[in-house]
Amino acid sequence: MALITDRERIDEALELLWVLDEDKHSGMNHFKLSSDDTDTDTLIETLLHHGLAVVAGTDITLTGKGQKEARGLIRRQRLAERLFTDVFEMPDDTVVSDACKMEHILSEELTESVCTFLGHPPTCPHGKPIPRGECCRKFKVEVTPVVTRLSEFEVGARGRITFIVPSDPSRISKLNSLGIAAGSVIKLLQKTPSFVLSIDETTVALDPEIAKEIYLRKAIA
Ligand SMILES: [Zn+2]
Ligand SMILES: [Zn+2]
Repeated sequence: MALITDRERIDEALELLWVLDEDKHSGMNHFKLSSDDTDTDTLIETLLHHGLAVVAGTDITLTGKGQKEARGLIRRQRLAERLFTDVFEMPDDTVVSDACKMEHILSEELTESVCTFLGHPPTCPHGKPIPRGECCRKFKVEVTPVVTRLSEFEVGARGRITFIVPSDPSRISKLNSLGIAAGSVIKLLQKTPSFVLSIDETTVALDPEIAKEIYLRKAIA
């Protein structure tokens, strides 16, 4: 019996079965991988061998073990889509292919950070549900995301800049020259008409538009 050892191929099959189930298509005839010419029979044999799927008549469905793995993969993929779309504003076609690589590399810990950072989004940019994680359940209790935009800060709050996502890349060096860079600790002094913040001994004013592009981790106290 020949088995497939390529982890990514198995992952892809698990994801496909998850999506088919979401769309209420469990028939074997829907089970076709788009990306390559993997022999479907061998792939199914591999899934059965690892206890990831079961076949009944013409239906193929995930086992509990298969569901658990697929759920994690789908969660990572859809969170990655959100990250690329919402934070990095990448075009949609790049997002899907890059997100498809991310789900194989993101660790559980990093996944929770990404999810928390994004405010535990319920859906991907295509409107498909993102399976909930441990962090999403905790979220009900402690409501604040780890990282927030400067635009969401309250006057008087202090925070450390995590990163900056400028809509205009040439802006970065300007901001850096003002002391606004990853790692800097700032205090927000005023929000209207412009954002005024203090960094060390310096006071800096920013357009509200730019305040949306600065991400900070809030300081306690
Ligand atoms: Zn999606
Ligand atoms: Zn979460």
